[in-house]
Amino acid sequence: MERFAQNRYTNFWKTIKEREIIVTDLQHTLERSVGAVGIGLHTGEKVSLKINPSPANTGICFVRRDLSPEQVIPALADYVVDTNFATSIGTKRGSISTIEHLMAALLGAGVDNALVEINGPEVPAMDGSAAPFFSLLQKAGLKSQAEPRRYIEILEPVAVSRGDKSLVVEPCKDFRVSFKIEFEHPLIAKQSFSGKITPQAFERHISRARTFGFLNELEFLKKNGLARGGSLENAIVLDETSIFNDGGLRFSDEFVRHKVLDLIGDIYLLGAPILGKVKAVKSGHTLHHLLVQKLLNCPYAWQFVEQGGTWKVPYWLGSQEDLISATVPA
Ligand SMILES: [Zn+2]
Repeated sequence: MERFAQNRYTNFWKTIKEREIIVTDLQHTLERSVGAVGIGLHTGEKVSLKINPSPANTGICFVRRDLSPEQVIPALADYVVDTNFATSIGTKRGSISTIEHLMAALLGAGVDNALVEINGPEVPAMDGSAAPFFSLLQKAGLKSQAEPRRYIEILEPVAVSRGDKSLVVEPCKDFRVSFKIEFEHPLIAKQSFSGKITPQAFERHISRARTFGFLNELEFLKKNGLARGGSLENAIVLDETSIFNDGGLRFSDEFVRHKVLDLIGDIYLLGAPILGKVKAVKSGHTLHHLLVQKLLNCPYAWQFVEQGGTWKVPYWLGSQEDLISATVPA
């Protein structure tokens, strides 16, 4: 009875506010598998990637198909092995680096469950943004699953800081991010972003923002075996005063938007989407990971909730109580 009523409302909602309801009630996976080939930003190695549907309640998992035995690595904070320049997850037998842009696309698109197969140590850089991954997910299509989505609802603020970098997550009825950066570079200087992260907002305002690096740092990174695959094809490259890329920037504040993209990807290592506002000042992968760890270690600061009880309904659909009783029970 509950299931019937819920489907009836879901179908009704689809006609008026389709995308909003699709991403807020049930878990979703992909309709079909999709793949891409590219080179890793740091390793410079050619890798192929396949994103597959997976069952409800399995979350996002990566698998290294090139290792024997194959290594399954869940995309969870406990598996983070490195946060310098990129976020890497792994086990003793193998790791996968630079997962954050793909993780951002998965969270941004509303994918709860997926198995990501990869035949190398790094997710391909594509164009340095999350847009190629987001359009792959759109091409695959999303399929709803018969389990309610579980959110991490923030109950108390949790904060971390290091020097002038800080990061705090606070209670909020939806997922919001604000980010402030400040660089001495004249083309970056002070930039800030603040907004609610919905699939539409992610696609339009965040997904296309590319990673960036400075020419003098690039030399240092390459000497240390990083950024081997870095090029104008997959990063914004700056010298002291200008941008090397033909065509310039995709947004005048592309830099802060990319920082938001990284944050979204790193936050998804909590293992579930959050209902909370994350406020970042000059933070990066390491601080993002510290916040995720601290939050998971503060059981009083969050709880799992299923979305059934917090649907927003138009006034002419009846009382909130009616609708709550018509959704999948927690
Ligand atoms: Zn990035």
